[in-house]
Amino acid sequence: MSTRCSRAKELGVDNCHEEYEGEKEYCLFHKPEKIGSEANRFYRELIEKDNPQEENGRFIFETMADFTGYIFPRGEDENSEFFKDSEFKSYAIFEDAIFNCDIVFNEATFKSLVTFKEATFEKKVKMRGVNFEEQERKTSFEQADFLESVDFSKASFDGSTNFIAATFEKMVEFTETVFKDSVDFRSSEFKHLTYFKNSIFEDSAIFSQVKFEGGYKTSFEEARFNGIVKFDGGVKFGGVTDFKITYFDKIANFNEAKFQQKVTFKDAKFSGSAIFYMATFEDAAIFYNVNFNETAHFWRTHFKGKSSFDYVNLKKTVNFRKACFSGEVSFKNTLFLCEGGKIGENFRHKDIPWPDFLLEAIKSKSDNKSEEGTFNYKNIAEFSHTTFEGETNFENANFKNQARFEDSSFDDVAIFDKIEFEKMANFLGTKFERSVTFSQSIFRDEVVFHYCGFSQGVVIEPFYRKVMIKQEGKQRIHISEYEEYIIEGEDELRELVKEACEPEERFGTNQALKEAYRVQRITYENEGEKERADEMFVEEMRTRREIKKESGTFFEKLWAYFEKPIADWTCKYGTSWKRVLGMSGLLILFFGGIYWLLNRFTEATIRYINGRTISTSIMGLLDSFYYSIVTFTTLGYGDMHPTGILKLLSAIQSIIGAVFMALLVAVFARKWMR
Ligand SMILES: [Zn+2]
Repeated sequence: MSTRCSRAKELGVDNCHEEYEGEKEYCLFHKPEKIGSEANRFYRELIEKDNPQEENGRFIFETMADFTGYIFPRGEDENSEFFKDSEFKSYAIFEDAIFNCDIVFNEATFKSLVTFKEATFEKKVKMRGVNFEEQERKTSFEQADFLESVDFSKASFDGSTNFIAATFEKMVEFTETVFKDSVDFRSSEFKHLTYFKNSIFEDSAIFSQVKFEGGYKTSFEEARFNGIVKFDGGVKFGGVTDFKITYFDKIANFNEAKFQQKVTFKDAKFSGSAIFYMATFEDAAIFYNVNFNETAHFWRTHFKGKSSFDYVNLKKTVNFRKACFSGEVSFKNTLFLCEGGKIGENFRHKDIPWPDFLLEAIKSKSDNKSEEGTFNYKNIAEFSHTTFEGETNFENANFKNQARFEDSSFDDVAIFDKIEFEKMANFLGTKFERSVTFSQSIFRDEVVFHYCGFSQGVVIEPFYRKVMIKQEGKQRIHISEYEEYIIEGEDELRELVKEACEPEERFGTNQALKEAYRVQRITYENEGEKERADEMFVEEMRTRREIKKESGTFFEKLWAYFEKPIADWTCKYGTSWKRVLGMSGLLILFFGGIYWLLNRFTEATIRYINGRTISTSIMGLLDSFYYSIVTFTTLGYGDMHPTGILKLLSAIQSIIGAVFMALLVAVFARKWMR
């Protein structure tokens, strides 16, 4: 069985106490459970061995201090502060050492290599304000075990630092700690409160596969990551997690991170890409007022609690493809600028499992063969295949570029009110299981609602319904069911009404307008609101006509001009029997008048069966109308017949009449028998 002494020898270290001659099991330095006078002797002998200079009650170690495998006991007098404020000018080796006592390194300075690799700290550790000045070689706490609380506040690490697989059983403070080079916490475990508040990471910070466990709070509040930061590989945040006002200058990779309790990124700023691929938020996820200056990736991210993206700024493409929001989510006042963007430098494809659709895109780019990933994104706010299981609110959001909701599904109420869609709004195949409103939203470009499922209907009405009530001199006006204004002057009123009622104000293209009328009609039909559905249908057909005029083929354009008198004037696209009756009456009067005028001023005339012509007086006019009715309704009693040009006119009228009679039947049937 190897003792700590023999293990030190195996490591090629000769740091045993001189009394050790190979017969005893261990020497004084390596002896476990030293107490009382033995403990005091340990520190005395330590000073003798390394001969540090003493200056104002602190030690300066001029030569290498090798404490490999030492067991530091609890002495009688303040020995825990033995290393306080000390200075190590050469190597400081604490590898595999065990500290049985509180240990204080506050304000110590390590000028050269320092390692605490595999050291065990059984009691409290104070490293407040310690300067680790070595720059060439790694400062190491690899696999160190901290069994009690540890405080690295205001410590400064000038070189790269290694905390790989370290274990922190109690509270950890890295408050205001500065890491001037890279730091690696990979696979370490934090089992209690963890504070990285206001700490600064000048270079990369690796927290891959770290476990923040025990359900305690983890805080990176106001921390500053100037290099790449990785919280990937299934990092587990067991407690409430705080990234408030945290600044990420380069890529922040939270790939597959698991947040088991509430996490807040409120007021954080991501200057590089933010990647939350397949991350899981078990509880609330707060991204309130976060600035994403590069691409933001939430593809396949699962938000199980309530999540907020209110007032978020998304400068570059944002990707929520196949994400799932199980709880309520709001994107209120969010600005989707979405100006392209890329996954930038120092980020390798192998660092994240790329989703298939991106891999394909990368493969297809023959010039993009390098491992370094710079995949460029188009200007899209991507919510394709996203599942919104809770209430979703996008009120007041602003999509400066394309918004894509293809094949996504909204299981609860969805609110898209007062949104500005500057570019295409794509809801191809989107499923809305509950109601969805687009009240007062503005669509400046195309809108796609094809294959959309509206289970409980949509409110998108392309014009506002208005009710005006006069009240004590003031005008009160309701604009849609949602807003009410009280205004003073007539001019203001007129302006408001105009603003509220012009569909052009809300729909930049006729295509968008048509789409809006169409989906609104479908909703009204499903709700059984036939009258309003008809209204929408007429507007839809009229907008279709405009689209044909704008961009149809020659014949479509030609037809668009005939369509107006034939389909619209006559019967409002088959929705109005009153219009059919009215138009019939007008046509009868019109033709009657023509007959009378022609009878009076030309040779052509209408004759009774006995050959007499109708008179040119008022009685003649009545006869003309009678004849017009009989012709229009194709009754054809035969008691009157036309001559000359009137024969042709009568034929035309009877054809028109036949059409109108058929129309009347059709419109009536449609109106009352559906
Ligand atoms: Zn020894």
